[in-house]
Amino acid sequence: MQDNKYVYMFEEGNASMRNLLGGKGANLAEMTKLGLPVPGGFVVTTTASLQYYEDNEKINEQMTSQILNAVSKMERDSGKGFGNSENPLLVAIRSGARVSMPGMMDTVLNLGLNDKTVEGFAKVANERLAYDSYRRFIQMYANVVKGLGSEHFEKALTQKKKSLNVKSDTDLTADNLKELVSEYKSIYKELIGEPISQDVKKLLIDCVQAVFASWQNPRAIVYRRLNDIPSNWGTAVNVQAMVFGNKNNNSGTGVAFTRNPSTGEKALYGEYLINAQGEDVVVGIRTPKPMSSLKEQYPEIYKEFENYCNVLEEHYKDMQDMEFTIDDGKLYMLQTRNGKRTGKAAVKVAVDLVKEGLLNEKQALLKVSPNQLDSLLHPQFDKQAIKEANVMAKGLPASPGAGSGKIVLDSKKAVELNEEGINTILIREETSPEDIEGMHASEGVLTVRGGMTSHAAVVARGMGLACVAGCSDVHINLSKNTLKIKDKEYKEGDYISIDGATGNVYDGLIKTKEVEPEEDFKLIMKWATENKTLGVRTNADTPKDATQALKFGAEGIGLVRTEHMFFEGSRITSVRKMILADNKEQREDALEELRPMQRADFTNIYKVMKGHPVTIRFLDPPLHEFLPHNLDDIKLLAKQMNVEYESLNKKIKSLKELNPMLGHRGVRLSVTYPEIAKMQTTAVIEAAVEVKEQEGLNINPEIMIPLVCDKKELDYIKKVVEDTANDIIKESGVNLNYKVGTMIEVPRAALLADEIAQSAQFFSFGTNDLTQMTFGFSRDDSGGFLTEYYDKKLLDFDPFSKIDFEGVGKLIQMATKLGKSENANLKVGICGEHGGNPASVEFCHNAKLDYVSCSPYRVPIAILSAAHAKIKNEK
Ligand code: ADP
Ligand code: MG
Ligand code: MG
Repeated sequence: MQDNKYVYMFEEGNASMRNLLGGKGANLAEMTKLGLPVPGGFVVTTTASLQYYEDNEKINEQMTSQILNAVSKMERDSGKGFGNSENPLLVAIRSGARVSMPGMMDTVLNLGLNDKTVEGFAKVANERLAYDSYRRFIQMYANVVKGLGSEHFEKALTQKKKSLNVKSDTDLTADNLKELVSEYKSIYKELIGEPISQDVKKLLIDCVQAVFASWQNPRAIVYRRLNDIPSNWGTAVNVQAMVFGNKNNNSGTGVAFTRNPSTGEKALYGEYLINAQGEDVVVGIRTPKPMSSLKEQYPEIYKEFENYCNVLEEHYKDMQDMEFTIDDGKLYMLQTRNGKRTGKAAVKVAVDLVKEGLLNEKQALLKVSPNQLDSLLHPQFDKQAIKEANVMAKGLPASPGAGSGKIVLDSKKAVELNEEGINTILIREETSPEDIEGMHASEGVLTVRGGMTSHAAVVARGMGLACVAGCSDVHINLSKNTLKIKDKEYKEGDYISIDGATGNVYDGLIKTKEVEPEEDFKLIMKWATENKTLGVRTNADTPKDATQALKFGAEGIGLVRTEHMFFEGSRITSVRKMILADNKEQREDALEELRPMQRADFTNIYKVMKGHPVTIRFLDPPLHEFLPHNLDDIKLLAKQMNVEYESLNKKIKSLKELNPMLGHRGVRLSVTYPEIAKMQTTAVIEAAVEVKEQEGLNINPEIMIPLVCDKKELDYIKKVVEDTANDIIKESGVNLNYKVGTMIEVPRAALLADEIAQSAQFFSFGTNDLTQMTFGFSRDDSGGFLTEYYDKKLLDFDPFSKIDFEGVGKLIQMATKLGKSENANLKVGICGEHGGNPASVEFCHNAKLDYVSCSPYRVPIAILSAAHAKIKNEK
């Protein structure tokens, strides 16, 4: 039997092997190939991790022996021995999935130290380094492998510093650290119940297992769900020779980007710490220095580093995010990856890379992920309001955007309030992966500690969320649920605002304002528009929404919800009169009140849309949604309608439906009351005639019937519409074309799409309802019991955010095919929430739909997604 290859030395891999080696491993291999100074090592593959789960979380013998062979190879290359007490080889154990998952997985450094080897290491290196590394190892191993909180060790460290009256870790001497090591060992023994193992091979295998297992920890699962990462990718493990940034004052460690990840500006951007190791630079224990001071302090090293930046950018043709360590004056590259960046930076970098000749337009478009545009489109603080606002404190401008909301001090609360539709600003000492859901639910995040590359900053930039980090003027009192900024005390629930572009923290709630798109953004949108075939329309119920969407590049309206117009001002009374009418005459009177109002709505929308297609959906929701339910309102309505309260109340009760998903709604309303369809047709057509006559615009209204499940049903309403419309057109003498089509949102309609297409001139998939009815889930379930489905891995994604390709998607593909085969001119679109979801838009392109329709702010996202779909298909 052929042996499975679970282990690759860095020299054996390259960047294209990302799926097998993980992102970090593939890039370490690639940098090795490019001749950059990378400490030697090997990768245990993602396949190995999947095998590990399959074997009930055991590492099989074959894997173990391949790992140990690779370690022997490292020993030969380095001239050191793993577990050797004279000249020990120390290694780092680093996780690395296919895509980077910041802070999701765990790293163990300095493995290879035990009570014996530490002495040998002290001799070949220096004593301080040896014991500093050992205490770090004990803490990391205890944490990653045994799940013991780091705070137990941090406490001992803090106490030590206090008793010696020193401030920084670097002030501790070799002897201090030696004592600390023995304290750490006792803490370990006491809390774990046995002493830390002295067998370095066992320790190594333990760590590999722990990294594999961390793929399934709850925070990794949440991150994957929020970022569309399948659980069956698994993670790789990198084992790499250690280099030491904590060796002396001629050593250090840092992180840097080739360009500014907030603005996209082309300039080296990052931070480093002298005499430090690993995460020291990102957790904010000491304040790191900017790269500009490295240039002053170590000009040679800076120059070398700058050179590698150029090599890597030219090679990867993208902005890079790198980690490096200086070991006694010698520079090592520990990681490179395409850098995460804000939407603003993504757009600028993509445009600049084209200008610099590194990329063509299509390649550049793929460098901007559609969701990133979100942060560019969202309102910023109103300029006047911000001038008048009080700056309470200033932190680091960690992720641009304006956030305003109620103060919350824990992530669970943020999630709860978000569900009630309340805006919050999450304020934490510093964030950890447990806070991701809370961050997602907030308008912004403010941290007391941490720098520009802290967890909060990195994650917020990825989410397009406003973030101010390292704001040390904020003092949180968790026991009282309050915080103090300078002299002012705030309670949880008080309002605060933050500006992630300046780092300013403001008192109170501040008005926000729309942003004007920048030149680079316009260029990206131009390229995207030129490179797509799928149409992009918008869902808009008002001229204001329609105007915004047009500005963003919408090519028409795919959905006007007429019922939204019914709630405005005094209209609701007429609507209620219509619903509660006892007979046709009364109903027609009420409808007659509504008609001019609806007509005016449509007139205004047509004017804005200037001849672009407008699809108008007829009344959809169950009628009781429009009715008053509290006593006073019902009494008032009885008075307005001049009827008895008692009988009115009875009628209202009779209209109540148990399940608003099913029952008397959509086309079924018009089947019962054709006069509603008549009134709406009249308003739609009269408005079109009026605008065509007055403005000379060519208006072709598209009338859309919701919730149809049968051709006969559609035909019945279509006749009402056509009879009404044709009379008006004839009388007006204007030449006007209109279409009648249907939504496909009941599975039966999808199944019988060929028949329905004989009567419909267009289809529009209402994927919210179609998802509800295909699964039998209600869309309100997505925050409810469906979370159990995510936890138990029965569902990877929320099917209300991203189309369920297998089930609902199959219906969409089938109905499109059936419909177009029966009616070659049939136009097919989608108007559910999914129309603005990038993966769903790509699906629609591939399913050969004609257009997607989404809310105005998602139009640019849909346009870019459509371009991505086309470009990826050409490849
Ligand atoms: P993450 O994926 O969380 O960034 P890494 O595997 O990159 O985790 O490790 C975190 C940090 O540990 C690195 O930024 C680096 O400072 C340190 N580190 C990793 N490998 C080594 C090594 N071989 N020698 C010295 N330090 C290392
Ligand atoms: Mg890293
Ligand atoms: Mg619907």
